Amino acid sequence: MNNNKIWLSAPHISGNEKKYIDEAFETNWISSIGSNLTFFEEKLEKYLGESKHVSALNTGTAAIHLGLILLGVKLGDEVLCQTMTFSASANPIIYQGGIPVFIDSEPETWNICPKALEVAIKDRISKGKKPKVIIAVHIYGIPYKIEEVRAIADQYQIPILEDSAEALGSSYRGQKCGTFGDISVISFNGSKIITTSGGGVIVTKSKELKDKAIFLATQAKEKAHYYQHNEIGYNYRMSNVSAGIGRGQLQVLDDYVCLRREVHDFYYDLFQGIKGVNVFTVLNDDYFSNYWLTTILVNPKETGGITNEQIKLELDKENIECRLLWKPLHTQPVFKEYPYYGTNISEKLFENGLCLPSSSNLDDFDKERIKQALLNFFE
Ligand SMILES: *Cc1c(COP(=O)(O)O)cnc(C)c1O
Repeated sequence: MNNNKIWLSAPHISGNEKKYIDEAFETNWISSIGSNLTFFEEKLEKYLGESKHVSALNTGTAAIHLGLILLGVKLGDEVLCQTMTFSASANPIIYQGGIPVFIDSEPETWNICPKALEVAIKDRISKGKKPKVIIAVHIYGIPYKIEEVRAIADQYQIPILEDSAEALGSSYRGQKCGTFGDISVISFNGSKIITTSGGGVIVTKSKELKDKAIFLATQAKEKAHYYQHNEIGYNYRMSNVSAGIGRGQLQVLDDYVCLRREVHDFYYDLFQGIKGVNVFTVLNDDYFSNYWLTTILVNPKETGGITNEQIKLELDKENIECRLLWKPLHTQPVFKEYPYYGTNISEKLFENGLCLPSSSNLDDFDKERIKQALLNFFE
C-alpha cells in the first residue's frame, strides 16, 4: 500500500474549472471584471435563496472585515465573538480598531452559547458599552443555535455577522447557512468544502449593500472623471480567474456535501466499536450539516488512557493528518487581554476533541489506511 499523505481537507477539482479559466484567458478578462464573476455570484445567490445578494472577494477574512465595516464597527467599538473558532473570525475586529469580547460554546453545537451571550450583553450594557455586532460561527459545518441567537440579537437590537466560512451546504430547518446573518460570510479557501483557490463572499440583504461591498473592495473609487475618494477603500475583489474555479466547483457542491457526509458515516460506524470515542453529530433533524470536518471527542477515562493528542501523533506516524479543535481564542496569547464570558466549555472541548481527515476525495484506500491505523492503535 502506498504511504501518500492523507490531508485533513484537500481541494477537490471536478474537471469543469479549467474550462472557465480558459474562457477568462481567451476573452482577456483575467482581472477583477468578467463573466465568471457574474455567473459565480448569480449561481450562489440562487443556491442560497432567501433573495440574498452576493459579492465575491479575495478571501473570507476580507468578507468579515467588510461585513464589520458595513455594520458600522469603528475604533473602540465592542464586538461579541464566538471563542471557539479560527482566528480569522476575530482578526478583522482588530483591523477596525474594535474590541473583541469572547463568548463560550454550548455543548450541543459547540458554537456560541446563547446563555453566555446574553450574560455578556447585559454586562457590557451595564458597563456603559453596548456591543455593536455578534459574530456567530457554524464551526465544522454544524449550524449554531439559530433561533436562540436570533432572539437575543433582536431583543437587544444587535446585528449578527454570520461566519459561514465552513458551512456552505449546511442548513437549519431547510434554510441554507449563509443566509441567517444580517450580513453573512462564506470562504472558498483551499481547505473548505469548495474552493476558488482562495476567496470568499459577503452575503447581504440588498442590491445596495452588495454594490457598496464591491465599491469598498475595489478601492472606493467615486464616480468621476478622475480618481475621487471620499472614504477608505480596500483591494479585496475576487479575480475573474478565481471565480472561474468557483463556477466549476459550484456545479459539484451538492455532490461534495454527500461525499463529506459519507466520510462522517464512515467514522461513525468505525467508532461504534471503540469505547470512549464519540463522533460529533447534529442534535436533531432541524440541523443539516455538510460535515466539512468530522470531529470526535475522546474520553481518556473510557479509552484506557488514550487521549486525543495520542491519536493525532499515532496517525501522524502513518502520514495521516489530524488537527486538534480550534483553540478557544480567549486562550490565545494574542487575544488574552480581551473580555471573555462563559464556563469554559470550549476549553474542555479543546482538551478532548480531534478533527479527522474529511476530504470529499478521500478514497476507499485512504479510508482503509485510516481504519487500520485506528484499529491497530486501539487494540
Ligand atoms: C476559513 C475561515 C475563515 C477565513 O476564510 P479565508 O477565506 O481563509 O480568509 C474565517 N472563519 C472561519 C470560521 C474559517 O474557518
